[in-house]
Amino acid sequence: MTHSIRCISIDKQFKGDGIKTNALHDVNLCLEKGEFVAVVGPSGSGKSTLLSLLGTLDRPTGGQIIYGDKNANEMKGKEVADFRFENIGFIFQQFHLLPTLTSLENVMVPLFSRRVAYNKKERAEKLLELVGLQDKLNSLPSQLSGGQQQRVAIARAMVHEPHWLLADEPTGNLDSDTGEVIFELISQLNNEKGCGVVFVTHDPVLASRASRIIRMKDGGIISDTAGEGK
Ligand code: ADP
Ligand code: MG
Repeated sequence: MTHSIRCISIDKQFKGDGIKTNALHDVNLCLEKGEFVAVVGPSGSGKSTLLSLLGTLDRPTGGQIIYGDKNANEMKGKEVADFRFENIGFIFQQFHLLPTLTSLENVMVPLFSRRVAYNKKERAEKLLELVGLQDKLNSLPSQLSGGQQQRVAIARAMVHEPHWLLADEPTGNLDSDTGEVIFELISQLNNEKGCGVVFVTHDPVLASRASRIIRMKDGGIISDTAGEGK
């Protein structure tokens, strides 16, 4: 299987209170296996909507999304959840850690009720080591800094070795030095694990360091250019 993602003329419309919002309109996009892509654009331009469609958290109202040779429109119920488990890791601005669970437990959450061929605890420990938190395995989120909490969230996103890491403004809640460290960590995972990255950011300096920069406006892609990254 290839790990490319192809969006063919996708639309996403939200309806509510009699108001229709065209969050995305006629978006065409090919993401190649292992790419490091930054997505930039003003608030409301459709970045988060695009990410949730790429990650199968939501479905387009029109068009097709094709993963390798698999059409997302043809996946049903549990198939979507299994597909997402095998292929996609998410990171959000707000970390979204469970407050009563330790780092180790938070990282193991995606593996709950999943049958896997490896030892879940060992895998989670290895990931926390990879993000530099080997001495925080038993800490609660409230005992960690924002940057450390985001590292736990990255370890959680990577624990099942997804082919794509989708990051929605992962540095948005962090000071710029910590944001830099988190960016470097994601960049390192892209290099070493070979997972593709789609990274939404407001920071033009970080965006310029991706290998590709997609600019959005009013629900469409207005430019798609090479960045300075590899
Ligand atoms: P961005 O992430 O670039 O700030 P979004 O993708 O969140 O933009 O939103 C794009 C547009 O879609 C905005 O106009 C937003 O208000 C609208 N939108 C997003 N999610 C929903 C939703 N669940 N229901 C209704 N409108 C939504
Ligand atoms: Mg957003």
